[in-house]
Amino acid sequence: MKVLVINAGSSSIKYQLLDMTSGDDLASGIVERIGEEMGKLTYKTDTKEVIEQPFPTHREGMVEIINLLTDDAKGVVKDKSEIAAIGHRVVHGGELFFEPVEINEKVLKGIKDCIPLAPLHNPGHVTGIETAMELFPGVRQVAVFDTSFHQTMEPKAYMYGIPYEYYEEYGIRKYGMHGTSHKYVARETAKLMGKPLEECNIITVHLGNGASISAVKNGKCYDTSMGLTPLGGIIMGTRCGDIDPAIVGFIAERKDQSAAEVVSTLTHESGLKGICGSNDLRDIHARIEKGDKRAELALDMACHRVRQFIGSYAFELGRVDAIVFTAGIGENDPEYRARSLSGLENFGITINQEKNLNWDRTPSYISDDDADVKVAIIATNEELEIANDTVAVLGLK
Ligand code: ADP
Repeated sequence: MKVLVINAGSSSIKYQLLDMTSGDDLASGIVERIGEEMGKLTYKTDTKEVIEQPFPTHREGMVEIINLLTDDAKGVVKDKSEIAAIGHRVVHGGELFFEPVEINEKVLKGIKDCIPLAPLHNPGHVTGIETAMELFPGVRQVAVFDTSFHQTMEPKAYMYGIPYEYYEEYGIRKYGMHGTSHKYVARETAKLMGKPLEECNIITVHLGNGASISAVKNGKCYDTSMGLTPLGGIIMGTRCGDIDPAIVGFIAERKDQSAAEVVSTLTHESGLKGICGSNDLRDIHARIEKGDKRAELALDMACHRVRQFIGSYAFELGRVDAIVFTAGIGENDPEYRARSLSGLENFGITINQEKNLNWDRTPSYISDDDADVKVAIIATNEELEIANDTVAVLGLK
């Protein structure tokens, strides 16, 4: 059985076709610059192909994806009818969606209702869903939300200390992001420990360009570092993470900017990039080697915040069975992992440097064998998780 996973943005469509029997990734890629003069489509199977042509709307992009998937020479299926179901990534499900759901008119309306909470993402998802429904009539489709894993947080964790009416009127509260990844790696960590997920307390550390940390208590999300938007929490590639909220007004006044302009700087020009000019850890390490003090500071600050979150979540959880690193930085940067957890021996957290440096990409521990708290690395796979959710929601085998 084959499942197509779609992640449609405002001007792009990421896609992956998975064989659910073998778990193989049959084809994947992205259509970019939809609506611009010249668009770009990447199509990866055993080989990689790049096509440059205009894609006026999502529809043309999706049609070209289908053409390639079913192409006589390059295709991986004979006919699109071989695709049993489609799973859509949806960034924001607000308080409406606690779990993945099959898409119908009511669900589509719900996703539209959440647009004010994710104005940059949900409109693209809606377009992607509507296009897929048109081009795959009769194929069942499922929405999988980044926020739904975090819906188990209690009000004490998700409410902000601001007038309650703002929550009632505008839905202002913490929602969290990367839920699909946190859920996937939490479950894989439980498997690695050989324990039922419901009995595990795990701190999941998703460190990509966007990054967040979650406290998972008895298998459920108890707290997470991102907030109303993906700007909050730890220091990220270009996003500031948690800062004193008064800074927004302070900058706006001095720079004569609107709040939106300041938030744009905090989103795109801050974080590691704001401190040292780069948001790529490979580059930051190379600069540190050359004695760049700003790069050293940026790395130090980022790891400091990661430790702070891990520490506060450990206290909240009371008992930590495992800490798991994932995503671009979490999977590839031993120095970042080691710095984030250094000097915590008294808390039962010790990293085995040999394992940390030689991780073989399989789910495994990098902690010392006798450490009280297991430290693991698990490569995240959000597409597989979305495909699995799609199959589960539809009761497909
Ligand atoms: P996102 O999906 O949020 O865009 P990723 O999870 O792909 O991000 O992570 C991207 C980041 O991972 C890069 O910006 C870079 O900092 C980091 N990264 C990727 N490869 C390596 C590596 N080999 N060593 C250190 N950091 C890496």
